[in-house]
Amino acid sequence: MLFLKNQERQKNAIVLPGVIKFNKKTCPPVIMDDYQIILQKYLPENSLDLIFEWIKQYKIHLRITRTRRSKLGDYRQAHNGSPHRISINNNLNKYAFLITLVHEIAHLVVFEKYGNRARPHGKEWKLVFRNLMNPFIIEKVFPDDLSAIIYQYLQNAAASSNTNILLARALKKYDENEVSGVHIEELNENTVFKLSNGKVFKKLEKRRKRFKCVNIESGKYYLFDPLARVIPLEDELA
Ligand SMILES: [Zn+2]
Repeated sequence: MLFLKNQERQKNAIVLPGVIKFNKKTCPPVIMDDYQIILQKYLPENSLDLIFEWIKQYKIHLRITRTRRSKLGDYRQAHNGSPHRISINNNLNKYAFLITLVHEIAHLVVFEKYGNRARPHGKEWKLVFRNLMNPFIIEKVFPDDLSAIIYQYLQNAAASSNTNILLARALKKYDENEVSGVHIEELNENTVFKLSNGKVFKKLEKRRKRFKCVNIESGKYYLFDPLARVIPLEDELA
């Protein structure tokens, strides 16, 4: 598993069609188009074919879940006719999603090969993970700056280490919401948000066509164009 903190229950998961009831008896045809359309939203385009191959080959029951603070993804072993299950958070950017998915598939491959004899992120897992990541490096799926850090990470991949932090930081750059934010008109009144320069405001009422906002630090009021891009921090902070 790729953990952040303690476990949290997952709610409102999206289960990819075609594997939703996958078991020994009911072996539904994988609905290729649906699968690919959904996966396209989450993965870099030139990684899709290979990931799709693995999902079919290992009969993976893949769930794309709501954001869990405790972990980015997890893997549960196949047993008693139920398939291998992998879940990945829906808020990851494409590169983070791919790395997390490959991380979990590596657990699956290790389980198939060694059962429970190998440690979760032991040398067997590291080797498998590196081998699974290789084709994406060769295909230049990642931008150059990320590629260099991923290469380092693969030399000593572990669930928690310095290289993990470096990689997490490098991946964060590609978080769209963090970079581009949302339009201020999409936020509820009283939502606290920040601008790309780090200044923090609270959205207040609409004044004619613009939104009145208060700078939390200075207490000064400003009017924002409804299409201004901001980064929401918290809903309705009192
Ligand atoms: Zn793991």
